[in-house]
Amino acid sequence: MIVGIDLGTTNSLIGAMDAGFPVLIADAAGRRLTPSVVAFPEGGDPVVGWAARELPGADVVTSIKRRMGSGERLTAGGRKWLPEEISALILAELKRGAERALGVEVREAVITVPAYFNDAQRAATKRAGELAGLEVRRILSEPTAAALAYGLDKLGERSKVAVYDLGGGTFDISVLELAGEVFQVLATHGDTQLGGDDFDAAVAERFGISPQLAREAREQLTTQDEASDVALRLPELESICRPILERTRGHCLRALADAGLAAGDLDEVVLVGGATRMPMVRRLVAEVFGREPNVTQHPDEAVALGAVLQAGILEGSVRNVTLLDVTPLSLGIETFGGLMNVLIPRNTTIPIKKGEMFTNAVAGQAAMRIAVLQGERELARDNWRLGEFDVDFTPAPKGQARVGVQFEIDANGILHVLTRDVATGRDTTIEIRSAVNVADDAVEEMIGASVEHAFEDMADRQFAEAKLKAEEMLPAIDVAFEKLELAAEDRRRIEALVAEVREAIADPNLQRLKKKLGELDDATQELAALLIESLMRE
Ligand code: ADP
Ligand code: MG
Repeated sequence: MIVGIDLGTTNSLIGAMDAGFPVLIADAAGRRLTPSVVAFPEGGDPVVGWAARELPGADVVTSIKRRMGSGERLTAGGRKWLPEEISALILAELKRGAERALGVEVREAVITVPAYFNDAQRAATKRAGELAGLEVRRILSEPTAAALAYGLDKLGERSKVAVYDLGGGTFDISVLELAGEVFQVLATHGDTQLGGDDFDAAVAERFGISPQLAREAREQLTTQDEASDVALRLPELESICRPILERTRGHCLRALADAGLAAGDLDEVVLVGGATRMPMVRRLVAEVFGREPNVTQHPDEAVALGAVLQAGILEGSVRNVTLLDVTPLSLGIETFGGLMNVLIPRNTTIPIKKGEMFTNAVAGQAAMRIAVLQGERELARDNWRLGEFDVDFTPAPKGQARVGVQFEIDANGILHVLTRDVATGRDTTIEIRSAVNVADDAVEEMIGASVEHAFEDMADRQFAEAKLKAEEMLPAIDVAFEKLELAAEDRRRIEALVAEVREAIADPNLQRLKKKLGELDDATQELAALLIESLMRE
């Protein structure tokens, strides 16, 4: 079992996968947050968390995260400590809580750090884990963890998201791009001295109360109109906090500029950090990014949840099966010449509806076979055949029948294929259930094959297209021969070329077929002109 840990400046959380679900661990009082506070009572062992906040007369260390990687030592409880040693005490407490709740020993962990943490800060975090008896399997960036928790790894390729994280003491804004299945941090900005604590200090100063009381009042005003112990109402709180909150605006704009994006390019904006519960924060984010932020996750739990999911991925208990959100592979139908004609490209967000008009290749044809294909290969036969059916339509001269084919994937991932004979308006529909829910291995294999065979696939497609062209030209030449009087020599020359083209079709050599087709094309230019003239006369 691997645990996921959000080792925060103000609060920390730990969780693990349980029977396929990420679960954050609560203490006996049902609290999932553990304050990142360590108290050193005289003559006793260090105390971590809620109890540490209430120990009078002890040395109390808070916000140790700010000093990670600095190498500076601080004195507490009569000895000197490296920052990672203090963090290790917090991690050990989290580990104990998890072991108590899970009933097993915990040895491995994923731990999150801010995106801007440098190598020294990351190494110190890893060291803290080791000191606490944990093998740190991965150091994960907090915005990436949050994006995982919000399920944004299921957005399409190259999706862009912003993660706005306002915690107790720090503010970060990160712009991420999803490339394959990994998030890349395009830009990150922030202020390591801006957070809920600063709001509390401002309120405390205005009312001459303790920051502790100010914080209680401020948190109450997230959901209530009035604070219980201080004569403070929301409008007044907001006017005190506004100048501090406004400082996050410039960071957001700079992060967007650094990422080379406009707010409108983002697919999602998510909120992280306890202080983003404040209504005024949500309003500011909506204003800066021109869209409502996604608030489907608990802001103070999202990072930990993402760490647990990452742990699950490493454990293999989170299977990366793409469900419902995007099409894992392209969907299309087989067209003339055995080619794949894509209607819905891979990674299209569903639900989606797309269609195309097809025509008959043969005069008088009365039915068309629709083969529904899935995959990334150029030739129909290399893709998966999901279904096949015949559509009847009104016979018409070649190229004049009109059959519409529409693919619709509904929100449940079911593919509805609809065909319509435009002449009669008659519809045929079939349903295919397996179009979206495809195991990851199979998707990977298909994409791998398409990359591996990219060149030959392209050559095959060109050959099929050249062959189609030849198959159109040859009957037209027969017609011309019938209708026109040609000089014997011209006729022999064209006949010889026709024979060569027929041979080239049989031998799948693209270059040869193209060359012969070109020659035949040139030789019949005059023929074509004469034929048109004769047809006009007729
Ligand atoms: P960090 O990531 O820095 O450890 P958190 O994400 O846990 O911090 O955020 C802690 C901050 O969230 C504190 O300032 C706290 O007051 C604030 N917070 C928590 N709950 C609320 C709430 N309901 N309303 C307003 N602020 C809140
Ligand atoms: Mg945090």
